[in-house]
Amino acid sequence: GDLGDEQAGLVIAHFGQQLDVEALEGERKGRVVRCFVRANIDSLVTGDRVIWRPGSGETGVIVARSERMSLLQRPDNFGQLKPVAANIDHIILVIAPEPEPHDNLIDRYLVAAENTGIPAVLLLNKTDLINEYNQPLIDDLLQRYENLGYLVVRTSAKASGSEPASEVQDLVRGRTSVFVGQSGVGKSSIIQTLLPHESLKVGALSESTGKGTHTTTTAKLFHLDWGGDLIDSPGIREFGLWHMTAREIEYGFREIRDLIGHCKFRNCRHLGDPGCALEKAEQEGRISAERLHSFHRILQDMTEQQARGLGPG
Ligand code: GDP
Ligand code: ZN
Repeated sequence: GDLGDEQAGLVIAHFGQQLDVEALEGERKGRVVRCFVRANIDSLVTGDRVIWRPGSGETGVIVARSERMSLLQRPDNFGQLKPVAANIDHIILVIAPEPEPHDNLIDRYLVAAENTGIPAVLLLNKTDLINEYNQPLIDDLLQRYENLGYLVVRTSAKASGSEPASEVQDLVRGRTSVFVGQSGVGKSSIIQTLLPHESLKVGALSESTGKGTHTTTTAKLFHLDWGGDLIDSPGIREFGLWHMTAREIEYGFREIRDLIGHCKFRNCRHLGDPGCALEKAEQEGRISAERLHSFHRILQDMTEQQARGLGPG
């Protein structure tokens, strides 16, 4: 396109009122342009596909946003959902033998993922730490999630050296990924193998600007040498660890969601109440005891949080 023509772009970072847009076509294709947003467009986030119009130099104006395939949101301090990143194809939940994976926490991440509608994948890292003692537990745990239909991939960031492991390359290739999971499981280590040229500091993505270097906590999109894109930010890495409603928890357990409404009593709390369809399903082996227990735990934790006035938020 000529100067002034509307063209397609991809939001790769976002600083207050300005966004970095990668030109997807025209003479600037592949270049990054600092854009302002036309007032009538609601909030844009990293990963958004946009239509923009070049201005003078390496600047432009965003005039429209394309429809989103998916949206990652998180609640602000008032419990209001705020968009964080768009068009993510899958959420890669990293777990490891150390720190020990408590199902409860894995399920919290999965509940949050299910509620976004974005598929979640379990990536077991640190396979080099698997031994005869922890192996049965890990195998059991992963089998449970495979039975539920979740894809499970095993890797070791340590063993993969300077190149990303082939199973990680296969996972990210051709897709837009985010890595989430408990601190210490190896997210940074895996991301480092995927982005060897970036100096990513945990908790702070630095961005050079004309006015010097400042730190942004908003999400940033990276093209991977191995194919695919990665969106990362400290906030995304904390994905799932916020307040969830009972409705969200019920929906977030994929084998439980369809049972809700089949309990004997309409006001069933599903916490061992008489005639609860979940108890029956567990006795008949249709849902696992571990997942039902985890469901109870998460539901109770959230109720207590709310009673103490901490949630939502
Ligand atoms: P994050 O908090 O999830 O980003 O985890 P980090 O990437 O900071 O890793 C936490 C610790 O685990 C660091 O000491 C890493 O060196 C270590 N680590 C990461 N991947 C592996 C792995 O595959 N095997 C082993 N043994 N250690 C690893
Ligand atoms: Zn019930």
